[in-house]
Order: sequence, then C-alpha cells, then structure tokens
Amino acid sequence: MSPNEHVPSMVQAGGYFPEARGFVDGEWYYEENVRAVRLGLRLQKKLHQEKSPFQTLAVYDTTFFGKVLTLDDAVMLTERDEFVYHEMLTHLPLCSMADPKSVLIIGGGDCGCLREILKHESVTRVVQVDIDERVTRVCEQFFPWTRQAASDPRAELLFDDGIHYIDKSESEFDLIIVDSTDPKGPGVVLFLADFYQKVARALKPGGVMVAQTETPHWQAVMMGAIYQEMRQAFPLVSSYLGWIPTYPSGCWSWAYASASRQHGDYLDEPRAKKLESTCLYYNRDVHRGAFAQPNFVKKILAGENPFRALDESHRRFLLSEGALS
Ligand code: SAM
Repeated sequence: MSPNEHVPSMVQAGGYFPEARGFVDGEWYYEENVRAVRLGLRLQKKLHQEKSPFQTLAVYDTTFFGKVLTLDDAVMLTERDEFVYHEMLTHLPLCSMADPKSVLIIGGGDCGCLREILKHESVTRVVQVDIDERVTRVCEQFFPWTRQAASDPRAELLFDDGIHYIDKSESEFDLIIVDSTDPKGPGVVLFLADFYQKVARALKPGGVMVAQTETPHWQAVMMGAIYQEMRQAFPLVSSYLGWIPTYPSGCWSWAYASASRQHGDYLDEPRAKKLESTCLYYNRDVHRGAFAQPNFVKKILAGENPFRALDESHRRFLLSEGALS
C-alpha cells in the first residue's frame, strides 16, 4: 500500500506497523519499535511514574543518557541528545525569518522547544498548548530547563488539546511548531490535513509551520502519508533531517511548511551566528545542509516506499503472529 492510498486511515492507524512499546527488564529499559528492533538504556533507577488522563509518564535515571522522559513507554527525550531535536525544531525556522515575534507550540510540554525559542530576542510572545499538564509538572521536577522556560514573562502555557486552540486562531503567529508525540492516541489529530489547514489559517502572511515527522528509515509509509496530509494545506512543504541516537533508527525528520516561503529563501546570518555559540547542534552549515535529501527520502516524499518488499514481508510476519489486526 503506497502512502497515497487511504492516507488518513494510515496516519490514524499509527502507521504501517504497531506503535512503539517499552518495558524495564532488570537493569535495562527497552524501547521496542515495529516489533522488530529494540533500544536498550542501562538504568540507574526509575525516578517517577504515573498515569495521567492522557498517557503514562515515566522518568528514569540512566548510566549514560542522563535522565530520560518516556510517554506511553516511548522515549521522548534524554539529557544526552534532546538538544538536537529542540535546536532543529526552533532555530532553523526562526533564523529563516527576518523578525519573528509570535510563536505557537502545539505539544512541547517538556519546554525544550520553549527554552530554545526564548533565546531569540525578537520573539515577544510564545503560546504553548500541551494537552497534558502533568508532562510539564513532572518535567519541572526533573529537568531544570522546564521551570526556567515556563516562568519567562513572554511564555503563556495553556493545557488543552492543540486542535481546540488552533480552531480559534487566525493569522496570529509567525511560526507554529508541532512538537507532538507520535501519530497515536491524543497525537493522531495533529498529523491530519484538517489540523494542518487550521494551522495554515492561524499563521500570519509569510508564516511557517514546522513539525516532527518521524523516521524515514523505519516508518517510510507513515512519513510519506504525513507529507501527503500536509500538502493538502501548504503549497510549499520540504523536509529536513537530523540524527538523534535515542529516537527510532537515530535518523529523524522534520517538515518545513509555508504558503509562501521556501526554506532556502532567507537565513538571518548575524542572528544564526550569535545563536551558534549557545547550541550543540544547530549552526549555519547544518541549517543549509539539513535539507539535503538522500535518494530514499526523496522517494518517500514522492509517495513511494523504497522498502516495500521488506515492509510487506514484516507485515505478513506480524499478521501471522497476531500483532497486526
Ligand atoms: N519535546 C519532546 C522531544 O524532545 O521529542 C517530545 C515531544 S513532547 C513531550 C510531546 C507532547 O505532545 C506531550 O507532552 C503530549 O502531551 C503532547 N500532545 C499529544 N497530543 C496532543 C494534542 N492533541 N494537543 C496538544 N498536545 C498534545
């Protein structure tokens, strides 16, 4: 099935394969993806676990990755490599605009994106809408940046379904960041054309939406489907890549979408140069290079699945063991 077929059901189904699951086995936390590969993190101890009305939250202390936040047993961030994700989801779009003032974050309850956005002096207002207040409150306990960013006078933290906020917003933001969980549970709605059309309406002229869009390596069909949804709302959609060792496959993608702005149109060199000294990943070379697409990613964005035969064979296996309905 190519991403062009039954796209909404593909996204709503959480992709071509079952969603990630995680579990502790002795001194190790394992995240299992596509029911075929596991990442193991050596634990010091579990620091917190609770079930909110939306998801299970846990924080672990690990020997090598520092503290780790999981939601529904999937790794959301580790102290060792969260900088890649948060720097690329914020500085790249913000430095592609001359004078961004207003930013909306959908999701982002850990405030990693908020921390990075507040480094931009031109930004006067950041609204963050996460469905689950418990994510922010738990992160305030374990990740020093959360409390600091959340207390900035420019930050406005709301706790609601992002779709509700975006329903009421019109021509309000220069940048909208979709920093959501994977396309499952409460996160599914944030990957569908209906939501992206509302985001497009909530942007000011020349505004940009960026969103995390999964991994091209292990979720080719899901990634292609997400871009298919996005293109129904934005005439200009491109994808950029980065590597986050504790995310599935280690190679992650983000979308850059706009009604009028190509990602290469503009780069605020002086601001990007100044920011580089505060970043561990983002810099002007990375900004330009991140949009270079390997051939297999180009195929995925064109709606093909370069791994079709292998994916189909794995799906047959999963069906045979009852892991796929
Ligand atoms: N920023 C982290 C990282 O480094 O990848 C992970 C993303 S953040 C923890 C994902 C957030 O999306 C969660 O806090 C979750 O509560 C939120 N979320 C999921 N569905 C949502 C929805 N429909 N509206 C608003 N927030 C949502």
